[in-house]
Amino acid sequence: MSLNKLTITKAADGLRKKQFSSLELTEAVFSQIKKTDEEIGAFLLLAEEEAQNQAKEIDKKLARGEKLGGIAGIPAAIKDNILVKGLKCTAGSKILENYLAPYDATVVSKLKEAGAVIIGKTNMDEFAMGSSTENSAFKKTKNPQDLSCVPGGSSGGSAAAVAANETIFALGSDTGGSIRQPAAFCGVVGLKPTYGAVSRFGLMAMASSLDQIGPLTKSVEDSQIVFDAIYGKDRLDSTSVASKFQNPADIGNLRIGLPKEYFAQGLEPEVEKSVRSAIEKFSDSGAKIKEISLPFSEYALACYYIIMPSEVSANLARYDGIKYGLSKERDNLLNVYLASRQEGFGDEVRRRVMLGTYTLSAGYYDAYYLKAQKVRTLIKRDFEKAFREVDLIMTPTSPTPAFKLGEKIEDPIKMYLSDIYTVPMNLAGLPALSLPCGRAVRGSGSAEPGGSSGGLPISLQIIGPQWSEPKIFSAALYFEKKFNGLTS
Ligand code: GLN
Repeated sequence: MSLNKLTITKAADGLRKKQFSSLELTEAVFSQIKKTDEEIGAFLLLAEEEAQNQAKEIDKKLARGEKLGGIAGIPAAIKDNILVKGLKCTAGSKILENYLAPYDATVVSKLKEAGAVIIGKTNMDEFAMGSSTENSAFKKTKNPQDLSCVPGGSSGGSAAAVAANETIFALGSDTGGSIRQPAAFCGVVGLKPTYGAVSRFGLMAMASSLDQIGPLTKSVEDSQIVFDAIYGKDRLDSTSVASKFQNPADIGNLRIGLPKEYFAQGLEPEVEKSVRSAIEKFSDSGAKIKEISLPFSEYALACYYIIMPSEVSANLARYDGIKYGLSKERDNLLNVYLASRQEGFGDEVRRRVMLGTYTLSAGYYDAYYLKAQKVRTLIKRDFEKAFREVDLIMTPTSPTPAFKLGEKIEDPIKMYLSDIYTVPMNLAGLPALSLPCGRAVRGSGSAEPGGSSGGLPISLQIIGPQWSEPKIFSAALYFEKKFNGLTS
């Protein structure tokens, strides 16, 4: 098997047994990138020399017999809104086209300390706004499972890189689904951790009350390994908290909730069938499956599309043509601001800044922003109530498999709808993991029913209460181990 196809677990095993070196593993990944990335377009920047040096360092340590952790010597790709010192960090935006990261994000320092080899930065929707990676100012990324389809977004580059075996794992960020939805579209595992579990220091803020960083991996075990390496309270991010994890699940006694609102109109029949049959598999080992109701989830998307743009309009005010990146010379300060932002930001970013400025403005604040915050509380309470009756909730990650490139880009509402099942967990601060559970027979859920692109991945989303990551992982592992053959 080619080294680049290995999971973290297998690669770490091979490194420990000296079957190959970290340098060989790193070179295998770069040779795959050279073979496939011109077409797939997952990367915005490659750090080949730096990566080789990091790998050589690890090899020296291994040769000295030092005991290293599970991700030492393993290649990792980083979404381009997470700072890696000395590398360009664009967030997929023209306004930051030449911005050099002055320091490492906490997650990156943690990965580096654990010995991971940073191979490059991955493509994304501009400032993480989008569900298809088509909003990148630089290029489009294609879905390695079907090159006519989008990889999902906004962490589409990270998901595509993992799916195409151009890296062993990747980091992404998830504000409303941006790790889970691309993971689902590309057939990899994606975790959005509990809000506050992972430090966002060095992540370019999109919507601060929703953003979380998490792993995109080839297996559930790998997801757990990366999560273990990056979580934890960080004094540089005051929203990060010391973890208080729940115990792993005992599948025989697990109570699983199926929210009826997530199996309703808009869900493609093929996705529903595959997800329902995946969930039924848990009852083979004695888990109890029960229908539940999350009535306020119906308002989650509307609520998200008020809160998120409001926070976006505040967070993106810092890109003013003075402090960072692109700057247009004009006769006065206001015109510098206006010209730099006009030229530096793409349409979707400008749309959201305008919406957010409106919903925060005097006279509209109460009607929109404050109302949305109240609805957010109701959505959160729905989950709290449900978790008194069940341990985990399972839903599809996305209502359709990957859609075609260009299919939704002209229609923002259609694009927003692809996050209908992922946004509620961000509003409630809950952890959720997406893992492949089947394949579409007829394919893409694209405009033409019966379209030719069969075999696109379908994914199951496992949601738990705050700090239930160990529970989610154990349920996901159970499914992956027992039914792996069904999913690939
Ligand atoms: N697709 C959603 C949006 O466009 C979510 C983005 C994200 O999670 N970063 O806002």
